[in-house]
Amino acid sequence: MEGPGAPLYSPDMRLKLVQVGEEVLRQTARKLEPKEIDGREIQQLIDFMQETLRDVPGVGLAAPQVGIGVQLVVIEDLPEYSQNLTEQQRVERERSPVPFHVIINPVITKAENLMVEFFEGCLSLNGFTAVVPRFRSVTVECLNEHAERRCIEATGWYARILQHEIDHLNGKLYIDRMRSRTFMTLDNSSRIWKDVGMEEVKRWLGIKEEM
Ligand code: ZN
Repeated sequence: MEGPGAPLYSPDMRLKLVQVGEEVLRQTARKLEPKEIDGREIQQLIDFMQETLRDVPGVGLAAPQVGIGVQLVVIEDLPEYSQNLTEQQRVERERSPVPFHVIINPVITKAENLMVEFFEGCLSLNGFTAVVPRFRSVTVECLNEHAERRCIEATGWYARILQHEIDHLNGKLYIDRMRSRTFMTLDNSSRIWKDVGMEEVKRWLGIKEEM
């Protein structure tokens, strides 16, 4: 509820990952002012979020997920995160490593018509996963950690990460977009469905393609 000027959090407060059910995950996060971005508070928040993302580990983290309703996201997809995927799965997902970067006040300005479907998870829905349709490619306009304008053109898994994280800034979670019949525990997804193709998964879980 605090506007610009009020402290976002006290430096000695421990930030933690919040789980679904917390209001902050359902609110629209506020945009950051360029002059705020250079301030100590936001720079500390970026450091903390980078550390948290590496610890978990995850490929993306939005500030509302640590309880802070501002439009800031950190992203990093390290090569080792996809080492459990087969070459075919990597190709299907169009997944390649993405170096660490920060996006602030992002807006999706263009999206390819084609939708692609894969399982995805969220650090705020710990232990669960579901198939989520996403645009294959998106263009995102945003600021970086120095308040400089950036335009990102992303395809494949990186485009999925961007859409997932930008949703967080608008109070949306993947469960709002998922194929609900595919919702399952992570444990079951790796036990039963890990090496099953997406079409098979949808067929077995009783999803009929809408026209
Ligand atoms: Zn998430």
